[in-house]
This record gives sequence, C-alpha cells and structure tokens, in this order.
Amino acid sequence: MTLFVIGKPINHSLSPVIHNFWIKKYQIGLEYRKMEVDKESLPSLIEKVRKKEITGLNVTLPYKKDIIKYVDEISDTAKDIGAINTIFLKKNKVYGENTDGIGFTNALEKQAKFNFNDKSIYVLGAGGASYGIISELIRKKVQTIYVANRTKQKTIQLIDYFKRKDKSLNFKFADWENLSPNSDVDLIINTTSFGMMENEFLEINIKNLKDTLILVDIIYNPKETELLKFFRKKGFFCMNGLSMLIEQAAVSFEHWFNISIGNKEIEEVKKICEKSY
Ligand code: NAP
Repeated sequence: MTLFVIGKPINHSLSPVIHNFWIKKYQIGLEYRKMEVDKESLPSLIEKVRKKEITGLNVTLPYKKDIIKYVDEISDTAKDIGAINTIFLKKNKVYGENTDGIGFTNALEKQAKFNFNDKSIYVLGAGGASYGIISELIRKKVQTIYVANRTKQKTIQLIDYFKRKDKSLNFKFADWENLSPNSDVDLIINTTSFGMMENEFLEINIKNLKDTLILVDIIYNPKETELLKFFRKKGFFCMNGLSMLIEQAAVSFEHWFNISIGNKEIEEVKKICEKSY
C-alpha cells in the first residue's frame, strides 16, 4: 500500500518529505510518493483507493476541482471551496476533503498567536487557494474580507459565490491596480502565484497600515518573495507558506492514519523542509 500526491507538474512537491518523515516516525510501513498524472488517469486512481490498493491521495494543481466528480462524497468544507486535496476511504466510500484553509488558519494561530475573530483581512487573489482560505476565514467569523485580484471578473465571481451562501458576509472589493489597505486591516494574505518568479514584486501602499499588521505570502518557494522581504524590512510580522503547507499535511495525515501530529513534529519537519530546498 502506498500514498501518492498527484498533479502536473509534481516535481516541486515537498509533500513526500513531510509525510515520509511522519510515516517513519510512527513506523507505519508505507511510502508516500509523487506521481505526475494526466487527467485520464484520475478515475483509475480513485478505483485503486476504493479497492484499497492505494491508502490515500493528495491532489494538487491542476486537478483539485476535476477529481471531485470521481469520488463518492465530499466534506462540507470541500463543498464550500469546490475543490479537494485529500482523498481516503471512509465507511467504504471514497471521500474527498480540503485541508488548505484549515492548514492556513492553524499556521497563523500557532505561529503568530493570531485570533481571527472580528478581524479585517485583505486577500490578494481569487484562485483555488483563495477560496480555501476564505471559506475558513468565514468559519472563524472574521469581520471584513477585502479581495483584490488581477482579473476583476474573478473577484466579482468569488464574492458572489460566498455571498450566495450567506448574504450577511462583509466582503469588500479592493482594486488590484491600487492596493492600498486601510488602517482597519489586521492581516494581508497573498494567495496569488505572483512572486514565485525572480523580481516579481507586488506593490502595496503601506502608509495606512497599523504596526501590528501581519503579512502572509502563501508561496514557500522562494522562501522569501519580494513582497515578504519588503514587509519584513518595514518591520511587520511576516510568514511564508511553509507552515501552511505542513499544517495542511498534518490534517491529511490525521484523516489517513487517525494520528494527530503535535507541534513538536510540525517544527521537526519544518526544519527538514527548510534544509531541503
Ligand atoms: P490558481 O487557482 O491558479 O490561482 C492563481 C492566482 O494567482 C489567481 O488569483 C491569479 O490571478 C493570480 N496570478 C497568477 N499570475 C499572476 C500574475 N502574473 N499577476 C497577478 N496575479 C497572478 O492557483 P492556486 O491554487 O490558488 O495557488 C496560488 C499560489 O498559492 C501558488 O503559488 C501555490 O503554490 C500557492 N499555494 C500554497 C499552498 C501552501 O500550502 N503554502 C497551498 C496552495 C497553494 P488571475 O485570476 O488574474 O489569473
């Protein structure tokens, strides 16, 4: 029996480093591997989970949405987001879950002692990661969610999507061409992939920001995007995406093996990851 992370491309994935460390630690006697797959292979992989030939799957880009149609059931969280990243057998049904959002909030709560309740959050991006994080922000009862995205239409779609579920949610449209968060903002999250390439610098006007503002860039490779470097130099508390990656992995691990990963094991694997790239 094996576990796989599937996607295309998949070479960059740090998930095997994380899961194999915990698998070894708990003497589970399995191996977690990466597998680059085409869309056509998705149904047969799900069948292998059903037949217990595969213990579980993580799913990454570009299949987080496409694979939903092949599983039997998905969680309420996954329904909110419209994407899954973790698959396992539950009561003989192939079950899909999304652990990205909870991975993000766990990371912030632990690393920055951040309490989401009643906070104002400024979210950059309206792709898959943004939906995952926003669905969790809503669950945590934040006060206001500002959203800015390069493609304006996708910002409108995202706000409509969540407002259709709950009209009372306090969303505000922010202009991508003029990113200028107000002094009420407690947390800025970059969920776009802008910043992964060298010299990609997202310009944000910081003149209104409060000293206690936190910046999170969920990109983890490079370790510090230009945006993160800029905010760190200006004295703000900053975090990259590695803690989120590890926290979302810990939630997947618990689904597969019913083992809760503690803070010590999170920190151990973080050090290993940091050295591995
Ligand atoms: P996605 O669904 O493809 O969305 C990409 C987002 O990035 C969209 O908002 C897109 O804007 C924006 N974008 C892409 N290129 C841009 C550019 N040149 N200028 C401005 N905006 C640009 O991808 P995703 O799944 O949300 O992932 C986004 C990032 O999050 C990736 O870097 C991924 O590695 C990272 N991530 C990290 C974790 C973690 O655990 N740390 C988990 C999930 C994802 P448009 O709508 O205008 O195209």
